[in-house]
Amino acid sequence: MTRLFSFLSSLTFPHGVHPPEFKEATRDQAIRRLPFAPRMIIPLQQHFGEPAIPLVRPQQEVVRGQPIAVANGDLSVAMHAPVTGTVEGIQLMPTARGPKSEAIVIRTLAADSQVVRWGTPRDVNSLSSAGIIQAVQAAGLVGLGGAAFPTHKKLEVPAGHPIDTLVVNGCECEPYLTADHRIMLEHTATLLLGIRLAMRALKAQRAVIGVEDNKLDAVAALRACLSPHDPISVQTVRTKYPQGSEKLLIKALLKREVPSGGYPYQIGVVVNNVSTLSQMGELLPNGQGIIERVVTVAGPGVKKPGNYRVPIGTPLRYLLEQVGYAGDASHIILGGPMMGNTVASLDVPVTKGVSGVIVLPELATQSKPAGKTHPCIRCGRCLEACPVNLNPCELGRLAVKREYAMMQARFHLHDCFECGCCSYVCPSNIPLVQYFRIAKSVNRERLL
Ligand code: SF4
Ligand code: SF4
Repeated sequence: MTRLFSFLSSLTFPHGVHPPEFKEATRDQAIRRLPFAPRMIIPLQQHFGEPAIPLVRPQQEVVRGQPIAVANGDLSVAMHAPVTGTVEGIQLMPTARGPKSEAIVIRTLAADSQVVRWGTPRDVNSLSSAGIIQAVQAAGLVGLGGAAFPTHKKLEVPAGHPIDTLVVNGCECEPYLTADHRIMLEHTATLLLGIRLAMRALKAQRAVIGVEDNKLDAVAALRACLSPHDPISVQTVRTKYPQGSEKLLIKALLKREVPSGGYPYQIGVVVNNVSTLSQMGELLPNGQGIIERVVTVAGPGVKKPGNYRVPIGTPLRYLLEQVGYAGDASHIILGGPMMGNTVASLDVPVTKGVSGVIVLPELATQSKPAGKTHPCIRCGRCLEACPVNLNPCELGRLAVKREYAMMQARFHLHDCFECGCCSYVCPSNIPLVQYFRIAKSVNRERLL
């Protein structure tokens, strides 16, 4: 029904792609809970920045919600116990990308009710801007859309850059993912409170929530809670990938351009996503930290697809067993199929940045082509798809010759945000975005 009205929104950005949505299996189901896993793995580094410092020792008993690690400096956040149980150890454990990293392992107390027993309720109305930012860091909040950048650092804008608008990202443009959609429908009040707190922290006069026009029920739910003079407004944007990229969303909603290589705060804007702000509205009044998040679990291999409230630290193997998937790790993607990453092992846990666990036997819509690679036929489709007007064809040719410095100097590689549109449309199956990731990481190392 909602797709019938998708022509309503003309707000968008140039280029991009329209992969099949595959959202039907989960978007109309309420968020559910699963039983607690017997063993939780909480990596000390599950955010951009420095790993947190453990506060607990082996054999120590912890209760659900208790702080178990503190932020290590400004670019770091706290961790909290996702279950009541006993610390088994602090040890090297597998991560989604392969190399092991230090994690606090907690054995869940099976007999416990697992109610949250930690937290000091506070009057958020009396918090100053600095007080809100401090509380956000103590709550361990990071960008839950996938970036896992510490949220307090986003709210702490460098001096001399006044913010007039908070843009709230409710696009969820990746195929399969519907967690943000359900949050807008089911947690509307906490989301709006989180937005108001973020506006106060930023001293922003207004907030605009951008929602793709395939979620008109969420638009209606949000608008029903806002008065005509509210500084928060809701705008539909066209359903198109990658509409949720922050620079493209700003362009669509505000007609402002973030400078090449720059940040949104330089043009008076900060962007946060719906899941993050909803958690802010839920946790700050209760003086609690983040211990769980909503994750879309879906894909052809999943018997019980849906949106689940999953404790941070739940091993993927356990989560997938609960939803009826019996395969191995070879076709699991964390996040959405366009920008998400495959996992090396099912022993890795759900971390704060995991918005989806998608099982894709065919890898049908992924930006990493599954078939054989052929020579470039100069068809130009990648140029038509690139939302930031790069020349992926030429960049790909230089990448094969390892001309990484030239890619940067003459073809603006730094503006590539790895959306995967070019790989997705390439008829020759050239893994362009993988080339660009390698080139960017080599260039970064050369600068060190
Ligand atoms: S991955 Fe980079 S080059 Fe390819 S379409 Fe996206 S922004 Fe453009
Ligand atoms: S889409 Fe692929 S084949 Fe076509 S020009 Fe780009 S790289 Fe070459």
